[in-house]
Amino acid sequence: MNVLVLNCGSSSIKYQLLEMCENPEVRAKGIVERIGLSVGCLAHKNDRNEKFETETEVPNNTVGIKLVLDALIDKDHGVIESLDEIKAVGHRVAHGGEYFTQSVVLDDDAIGKIEACCDLAPLHNPAHLLGMRAILDVLPQVPQTAVFDTSFHQSMPASSYMYPLPYKLYEQYKIRRYGFHGTSHKFVAEKACRLLDLNMNEKKIITCHLGNGASITAIKNGKSVDTSMGFTPVEGLMMGTRTGDLDLGALLFIMEKENLSVSEANSFINKKCGTNGFSEISSDMRDLEAEADKGNERAQLTLDMYAHRVKKYIGAYAAVMNGVDLIIMTGGIGENSYDTRRMVLSEMSYLGVEFNNEINQGLKGKDTVLSMPDSKVKVMTITTNEELVIAMDTVRLVFGE
Ligand code: ADP
Repeated sequence: MNVLVLNCGSSSIKYQLLEMCENPEVRAKGIVERIGLSVGCLAHKNDRNEKFETETEVPNNTVGIKLVLDALIDKDHGVIESLDEIKAVGHRVAHGGEYFTQSVVLDDDAIGKIEACCDLAPLHNPAHLLGMRAILDVLPQVPQTAVFDTSFHQSMPASSYMYPLPYKLYEQYKIRRYGFHGTSHKFVAEKACRLLDLNMNEKKIITCHLGNGASITAIKNGKSVDTSMGFTPVEGLMMGTRTGDLDLGALLFIMEKENLSVSEANSFINKKCGTNGFSEISSDMRDLEAEADKGNERAQLTLDMYAHRVKKYIGAYAAVMNGVDLIIMTGGIGENSYDTRRMVLSEMSYLGVEFNNEINQGLKGKDTVLSMPDSKVKVMTITTNEELVIAMDTVRLVFGE
């Protein structure tokens, strides 16, 4: 059965067509970009490794979705004969607010609630809704689902998710910690427990999703009990271009000195800071590691800061859960950067982590145990796959499988 997974942004649509069987496979994937600009483009790749790129006018999401569907049924680079072969569509949705504790089949009620969360994710939710409506236009009979970045974290206790602000701001605007990357945190924790034959409902797990965006989650007895991203994805770890934790006073000081408007300040903390802004080299860990190897001190300091902040959260979350049984590294950096893993996870014996750096150094992004056999705390690197989670949730919700 083919499931189309969509991540609709304001100017782009990322997609994957997955064949959902015992061993799910990606049949095709790609991206439509520059939606709404004079010339849009599509980059498509199929499971025969054939690439197709085109530039054309893409004035809106409906046209963008049509472009994706055309690519999927194209007689040269397509992978299905007709659109009837798409049995369901799963959408990645950035924000489900307090409405959604799990993925849902889209109906009027769900769409209304996603709409109600637009205030909380003004760049993302409206774009997701456009994508949902576009599918409704083009494939009206096909069931659609929404899988939320936030829903896994709805289990957090109020003591974790509340901010020390006047309570009425929570009542009025729903300002609180929501957390993101929930699909990834849940997926890697479940996968690691399966591989290690552990019962997730009895374990204390810390999952570190380290990609361009990065967050870390404390999972106790199968539930997220705290996570580093907050009301927005800016809070928490240092990221490619986002600050992560920062003294609010520093931001106000910068705004005053640099004469920044609210929207300029928003763009500053989201796009101009993090590893890229601090190093003035790159947001890409590979570039920073290469520069550090050549002796660039700023690059080395950036890497040290990055690892320090991840380590600090691990300590905090072990404290929150009164211990930890399993630490998981995932995301592009967690899966591939052995230097980051070494810096974060070595010298953690106080916590019961005996890190095996020999395995770590030789590793090439596979699901692997990185702790010594007698380590009290297990450490694993696990490859995440958010599209697969969305497709699996979709199959479960729509077909009950
Ligand atoms: P996104 O959050 O956009 O999904 P990814 O999870 O793909 O990002 O992670 C992207 C990051 O992974 C890049 O910034 C890059 O620094 C890092 N990365 C990818 N491969 C490697 C590698 N071999 N060594 C170090 N870092 C890597």
